[in-house]
Amino acid sequence: MKLPSKITLCEVGLRDGLQNETKIFQTSDKLAIANELIYAGFKVIELGSFMSPKAVPQMADTDELFLQLQDVENVEFRALIANKKGVERAIHCGCRKVKLNVSASLGHNLANINMTPEESVAGFKEIYNLAVDHGLEVSGSISMPFGSPWEGKISLESVRSIVEAYLKVGIDEISLSDASGMAVPNQVYSICSSMKKSYPQVKWWLHFHNTRGMAIANIVAAMQAGITHFDSSLAGLGGCPFVPGAAGNVASEDTVHMMDEMGIDTGIDVLKLIELAGKMQQLVGHDTDSYILKAGRSKDLIK
Ligand code: ZN
Repeated sequence: MKLPSKITLCEVGLRDGLQNETKIFQTSDKLAIANELIYAGFKVIELGSFMSPKAVPQMADTDELFLQLQDVENVEFRALIANKKGVERAIHCGCRKVKLNVSASLGHNLANINMTPEESVAGFKEIYNLAVDHGLEVSGSISMPFGSPWEGKISLESVRSIVEAYLKVGIDEISLSDASGMAVPNQVYSICSSMKKSYPQVKWWLHFHNTRGMAIANIVAAMQAGITHFDSSLAGLGGCPFVPGAAGNVASEDTVHMMDEMGIDTGIDVLKLIELAGKMQQLVGHDTDSYILKAGRSKDLIK
């Protein structure tokens, strides 16, 4: 089996996780979680998004989080944005990295904003320029590249043409996000292999939801194709408003536990992470999709 010796995880619970919770967290709770994630060893953390506070009230204090955390060294904090206003907020609060998103589903994009995915990405140029002029880094994400509730499977050609639209704008850090939980391992292997081969200049991230229990298998398949950057979420929080029954992102503690058992370095202390995931579950006040929180580490079974 071809596996990397080391991978990087981005913890997305504070964004993808909390935006799907009805409870609005206190800024102080979010700050405490972010600090404990750093303490556990995360080097990349998605802190929130700069969306309209009316549309996404859970993320209204993202600016405050960045103001409080911008002096932490060697940790990349990123935020999701959708428009120019998002970049302006990022500039003001000291956020250095923003992420744009487009749906790979033509039907979804047309229904939402009456544009093809490629047209949406081309429209990011102005946002990109403003961000880069202010020294920010910009990455892009493509959601549902493996399958969407609108079209079913998405063709490799469509994904390729969105990647090319991103490259044309100047964005070469791209995340493939299986928000619909429809990806399967052989497909992930084949798309990732093909993308890595065609676009070696791209820094790839993979983002899997565990809606049908395949997130961790998909991560292994992506690693086989040479992918080494993945998103994961504390306690398995997360969801997707467009997908009925969507489960959360793959749990960070499940992912780190598997990597530890496989001898792949994540730089993250799994025991600290398990403790924090337990706290997160208490804070949200309901059960979440985490195997390790239920079963504990394999290692701890051995007497
Ligand atoms: Zn997600």
